[in-house]
Amino acid sequence: MHTATPHAAFPAAAPGDAPIALEAQYGAHNYHPLPVVLTRGAGAYLFDDAGRRYLDMMSAYSAVSFGHSHPVLVRALTEQAGRLAVTSRAFHTDQLGPFLQRLSRMTGMARALPMNSGAEAVETAIKAARKWAYKVKRVPEGQAQILVAEGNFAGRTTTIVGFSSEAQYRDGFGPFAPGFASVPFGDAPALEAAITPHTAAFIVEPIQGEAGIVVPPAGYLKAVREICNRHNVLMICDEVQTGLGRTGALLACDHEGVKPDGLTLGKALGGGLLPVSAFLARDDVMAQFTPGDHGSTFGGNPLAAAVGHAALSLLEREQLVQRAADQGAYLMARLRALAHPAITEVRGRGLLVGVVIDPRVASARQVCEALMHEGVLTKDTHHTVVRLAPPLVIEREQIDVAVQALARVLRSLA
Ligand SMILES: *Cc1c(COP(=O)(O)O)cnc(C)c1O
Repeated sequence: MHTATPHAAFPAAAPGDAPIALEAQYGAHNYHPLPVVLTRGAGAYLFDDAGRRYLDMMSAYSAVSFGHSHPVLVRALTEQAGRLAVTSRAFHTDQLGPFLQRLSRMTGMARALPMNSGAEAVETAIKAARKWAYKVKRVPEGQAQILVAEGNFAGRTTTIVGFSSEAQYRDGFGPFAPGFASVPFGDAPALEAAITPHTAAFIVEPIQGEAGIVVPPAGYLKAVREICNRHNVLMICDEVQTGLGRTGALLACDHEGVKPDGLTLGKALGGGLLPVSAFLARDDVMAQFTPGDHGSTFGGNPLAAAVGHAALSLLEREQLVQRAADQGAYLMARLRALAHPAITEVRGRGLLVGVVIDPRVASARQVCEALMHEGVLTKDTHHTVVRLAPPLVIEREQIDVAVQALARVLRSLA
């Protein structure tokens, strides 16, 4: 008789080892998740290991714009995975060209360079801007400067956290790359005053997501465009979070009719299934990259290209940009109608909404924990802001459920 004895080096998880405890024991503690264990998702819903259903009001920081496991995207993923998934860019595939064409045409940019994470797309933008500055603008070698906005979030690489204004993002991770300077977000004259003959680019989020859904004053992006034109500085919009319909326009720049010289996309570009990002730019900027200058083993792989392409098609077919505008306006109207004294501000655009909670009543984290018990999942940002950024496919009835849950939570905390 054979009794199965697990190999000593690979002990099977003992029954009762909760997933949360395993993460705590074997993982790095670089996140502080809400105590819920998710096992399944469908549309705007998530389900936990006890079968409880939750409304997803944050869609993985906007990566799940199409809802969880959209059948059209899952089909694109599985069909392509069964045919050809990863080749590297050492060879052409039948998927990459059509994806880049679709992406460029939809966004009005000349060319696109595919990467994986949002941070990599921003790193690509930084490299492109610097090389353009040296080769086209004739900035002296090693002197190129890139301006960023205070409160920016562009990912977690060492270069990127080096220009963050968030102390915790930087603490203990230096030394940082030189060549960056910050200007206040939403302040066009401050941008103009900071520009020098060595300035290559200004990288800016049209709405700052991680900073707490901060919307700049009307006319800011237009003014930035004019200033960048005047000084031959590239305007690069980081739309990793705001892009692809989230704010009720395909790009958040579109709200002011502004076309940037460079653009980063990510998050929703992967259809909520894969990390897919891209740097897009006008011709003379992208032309700075020659073979061997830049790359990524997984960037532009046929699986990512097929899913990204299907996601862009779905965005058009289901008219999700308009839907984000309509549902977002409805959500914000409902939140404002609560007129709850614990809510000091409701801000945002489309389905990228921040609800600012009076810190004397509760922290945003406490509100999110209480919302979890009401069957609504979301995440606080910057201690006082509850982010409401559901999948763009969310229904009005589901928005009503989320707003009612928030009202109950605020009543119980006040
Ligand atoms: C999330 C985000 C990034 C970084 O994306 P990752 O995929 O997490 O690397 C960059 N820019 C903005 C505006 C973001 O919101």
